[in-house]
Amino acid sequence: SKTAGRNRLSYFTRSLHDSAQRRLKLINDLRVAVQHQQFELYFQPVINLATRQITKAEALIRWNHPERGMVSPAEFIPLAEETGLIVEIGDWVFREAAAKAKQWCDLFNTGFQISVNISPVQFQSDALDITEWLAYLKDLGVEEQHLSIEITEGLLLNASTDVTDKLLRFRDAGIQVAIDDFGVGYSALSYLKRFDIDYLKIDQSFIRNLETDQNDLALSEAIVIMAHKLGLKVIAEGVETEEQLRLLLEIGCDNGQGYLFSRPLPAAKFEDFLRKHD
Ligand code: C2E
Ligand code: CA
Ligand code: CA
Ligand code: CA
Repeated sequence: SKTAGRNRLSYFTRSLHDSAQRRLKLINDLRVAVQHQQFELYFQPVINLATRQITKAEALIRWNHPERGMVSPAEFIPLAEETGLIVEIGDWVFREAAAKAKQWCDLFNTGFQISVNISPVQFQSDALDITEWLAYLKDLGVEEQHLSIEITEGLLLNASTDVTDKLLRFRDAGIQVAIDDFGVGYSALSYLKRFDIDYLKIDQSFIRNLETDQNDLALSEAIVIMAHKLGLKVIAEGVETEEQLRLLLEIGCDNGQGYLFSRPLPAAKFEDFLRKHD
């Protein structure tokens, strides 16, 4: 009936209105979060599959929302990108990760590295100040090789000269570069030739069904072979089972990251993990 239709419509517009309101509130909360430092970095170890040693850790941001508790980055990073807040958030992430790299290198020695995700919006922003970051590392007394960055393929496909310059500056400073979520979304590989990349991270969607899907296994193996021919190392993301680990070793994958080894951990817990595996 007409009334039912109208009710449905008003229900529809009302729920649209509600979700728009929720979104606006979340954006507002995000501004407050930036001002009041409601963020925390978690760390997930990356394991050398052959030696089982921890080679590095990925820094993953968490938002401790005063009412909603932990909000997933999958939810708030897109909002941060839309509003431009990602630049300030990403700046905090880099500095916090650098401080932890310093702390843990002093405590446990050696070649340990922390990798930081950089959103394409942040990378392309004029406000991303690499000179300042490098000065910050110097002040802290942490060498550049203890940090690496993770970027996505999309950034490199139609890279502007600004993006190209920034990438060169990171590499020249000794900060390694990883391609995140490799294999999804784009099939152009020519950028691997143009840019100096250190790691490919095979997206977890390839790893999830490694045991049952012959195509995923074949693609993962092809990625490893190609990467090695190009002088790159490979990190498999989302390794959850022993069987996946066995297959990854079989195809010669260098490193793995996933719940099989450890979930992302808050700094204190991660430090315990490092201590246990030192
Ligand atoms: P990502 O960079 O691909 O990070 C890997 C995601 O996989 C993380 O989700 C991690 O917790 C999850 N993960 C790790 N091991 C496993 C596993 O064995 N199984 C499964 N199912 N998942 C696993 P998280 O922490 O929720 O982060 C989601 C995304 O948010 C990240 O994907 C990244 O794109 C973004 N993100 C996180 N932290 C930052 C940050 O500091 N800056 C920026 N720009 N983006 C970030
Ligand atoms: Ca990543
Ligand atoms: Ca990834
Ligand atoms: Ca991802």
